[in-house]
Amino acid sequence: MGKIRILDEHIANQIAAGEVVERPSSVIKELVENSIDAGSTKIDVTVEEGGLQLIRVADNGSGMDADDCRAAFFRHATSKIASGKDLFRIRSLGFRGEALPSIAAVSKVECVTSAQADGLGSKIVIEGGTVKSFEETAAARGTDIRVKELFYNTPARLKYMKTVQTELGHISDYMYRLALAHPQVAFTLRHNGNLLLQTLGNGDRLQVIAAIYGSSVAKGMIRVSGENPDYTVSGYVSRPELTRANRSAVSVIVNGRYIRSHALAHALLNAYHTLLPINRFPIVVLHIGMDAALVDVNVHPSKLEVRFSKEAELVRFVEQTVREALQSEVLIPAAGKSAGAKTAVVQERIDFYRTDRNDAPLPPQQRMFTQAETEPREPWRPDEANQRNGNGSSSSHSPSVGGTYPVNGDKHRRRTEAASPQIMREIAPAADGENIPQAPAFPELHPIGQMHGTYILAQNEEGLFLIDQHAAHERINYEYYYEQFGNPAQASQELLIPITLEFTPAEAELLKERLHLFELAGVYMEHFGGGAFIVRSYPHWLPRGEEKSVIEEMADWIITEKKAVDLAKLREKSAILCSCKASIKANDKLSMAEIEALLHKLRACRNPYTCPHGRPIVVSFSTYELEKMFKRVM
Ligand code: ADP
Ligand code: MG
Repeated sequence: MGKIRILDEHIANQIAAGEVVERPSSVIKELVENSIDAGSTKIDVTVEEGGLQLIRVADNGSGMDADDCRAAFFRHATSKIASGKDLFRIRSLGFRGEALPSIAAVSKVECVTSAQADGLGSKIVIEGGTVKSFEETAAARGTDIRVKELFYNTPARLKYMKTVQTELGHISDYMYRLALAHPQVAFTLRHNGNLLLQTLGNGDRLQVIAAIYGSSVAKGMIRVSGENPDYTVSGYVSRPELTRANRSAVSVIVNGRYIRSHALAHALLNAYHTLLPINRFPIVVLHIGMDAALVDVNVHPSKLEVRFSKEAELVRFVEQTVREALQSEVLIPAAGKSAGAKTAVVQERIDFYRTDRNDAPLPPQQRMFTQAETEPREPWRPDEANQRNGNGSSSSHSPSVGGTYPVNGDKHRRRTEAASPQIMREIAPAADGENIPQAPAFPELHPIGQMHGTYILAQNEEGLFLIDQHAAHERINYEYYYEQFGNPAQASQELLIPITLEFTPAEAELLKERLHLFELAGVYMEHFGGGAFIVRSYPHWLPRGEEKSVIEEMADWIITEKKAVDLAKLREKSAILCSCKASIKANDKLSMAEIEALLHKLRACRNPYTCPHGRPIVVSFSTYELEKMFKRVM
């Protein structure tokens, strides 16, 4: 006799439960998804003790008639697909027909349901997979399912349950995603009698965002919308000052299903590019619509992961749509708003680059502005780099304004034309080589003065603006260097005395293989035996006095970067490196003319709102806010 036998339905359900019902939140997910599939407009979820005592989901959907009420608890019983063909065009959230039997196998279930408006329905009671009773009962149209004592008959699974708070965390997290995915449904979630979530079901996505993340977050969101023949993308993304320490507030919803997609999450972060501080993540609710044939949802029992048939195109489209939305906004955070209070300032990284040599004269290219040589007390020198290249003001690639500025008097005439935005617009790069529209509408600001040698104060009709001068200068320089690194070849200069760099033998081995990357960045370097390399030439526009350290840090990065190093990343990395080294630091006194020039250049930047590390550059106080503060208006 053979040893193989077909398992009975009871055991098969318990096995399936192991996969489908991992913890209380999985039960919630399955039941609520069923309610949504049934066309409900109101879904009330009640939970006790993290869902281990009770999970109740009551909806006003289609309900089930007596036959379906029984059949629903059989394995592979579903009303959602009829044939194999349907598998490739799934529009409902469920289709596998295993949730109800799996849940019923590991708990005590009571289901009251009615498909009519006549007040009559059915009630079925199942314990550990065995039907205990089935009867006619009074019921409103819709379905009301109670799941009690989850895992009561599977002690091994029960042992794995964490604290009530942890399980509740999973439950509310999933409820949030469902509510975000279905703003047309009015949800409530109650735990041990406390109302934890309530949405209106009026289709307003921002209302759901406000119900979950609070109204100040909802106010800080930017609308996203885009469409191409294959996809529609719509939703909300947070302004860059509104961030979280992890990705948990990123929700991607495909055809009404919350999914996890590494590729799409990555696309979103790419869209923000340098707008986000390091290790901070945005709040995103993105709905993606597509033909059901373009997405395979049958790759994972909980259907959280899906497979896209044209993933690369989708990723590109999402990134582009979100980036355009971000760039079409004026991204100045309002001062003192609670939304901004959660902004993380990653100061360590900035400090790392600070040299704090306030009294030493800085190399000219570390200066954005040039200063008349005759000016006393100011440590700045004329821009030698420009003189070396001939006429400074005709060099549109120069980071310097190329004019001379008076400190306070009328001894010199100002030459504002050299700092005109047009010129700067030319040198402002596309963030990653694509043709990206300029961020519009950075306001024209009139300088008031400088505070603590660190912040620039400026105004316009709208209000008061505070600008972090170091961050602003870093941004201007970053865009300049990014552009330069994109086209370094003709800009290299031979060195009379080559620079020598030393590395460990292991590092040298790695570096030898990646020397071509340096060449693409305009740095010509040769292996000199052992751990030594010599630099024969480098771009003349590297920050002066910092050339060696820039090249060294580029090499360090190339050596330590585990993943494939590509030119785009090297370009960005190097541009950040140079911009840090070349920027004015805090505690630098600026003249009015210098402040004006800085604002001018900032305005011409592609992204004038954050420094390359994602810190904000500008904060504002609106005139109205100020009037409120001083009780001039009520
Ligand atoms: P699936 O959702 O994959 O079809 P389930 O086991 O979750 O499988 O549900 C089985 C069937 O029971 C569904 O196909 C549906 O017809 C019915 N059903 C379940 N929950 C509800 C509900 N809340 N309202 C109406 N019908 C429901
Ligand atoms: Mg289902």
